[in-house]
Amino acid sequence: MSTQQTLSIIKPDAVERNLIGSIISLIEKNGLKIIEARMLQLSKEDAENFYLIHKDKPFFSSLINYMTSNKILVLKIEGENAIDEYRKLMGSTDPSNADSGTIRKLFAESIERNSVHGSDTIENANIEIKFFFR
Ligand code: ADP
Ligand code: MG
Repeated sequence: MSTQQTLSIIKPDAVERNLIGSIISLIEKNGLKIIEARMLQLSKEDAENFYLIHKDKPFFSSLINYMTSNKILVLKIEGENAIDEYRKLMGSTDPSNADSGTIRKLFAESIERNSVHGSDTIENANIEIKFFFR
């Protein structure tokens, strides 16, 4: 166990439906601390770079349209084992497989419009934090 930092995005579907407060409240209630925040709208180029590992997936262009469709709130989060703890709090990518009480079970609309992003490894957390907070 160690203190880690991770990157979260509150995605367009959640910003549109006024869920920022509810999601931040869950993050804080679970012992994670928000240490930086930025609200912005991704350009197509930035969204494509952020999701570069998915560029050959069939859902890529739809994902880019969705992620650029409205503002997002980007959060830098810190805590004990923050990367895995936040992934656990998010729940499965597909909300129909997500555990009860998770952010995606509570709020996601679909496998694409699933309300939140969270880094999945220490290496990706570092890359993603640098992408938004330099
Ligand atoms: P996660 O966000 O749980 O790490 P992935 O890295 O696999 O999931 O996918 C990145 C994002 O792409 C997902 O959060 C979701 O918005 C979208 N996505 C993933 N799989 C699909 C799919 N089969 N159809 C549509 N969108 C998808
Ligand atoms: Mg991922």
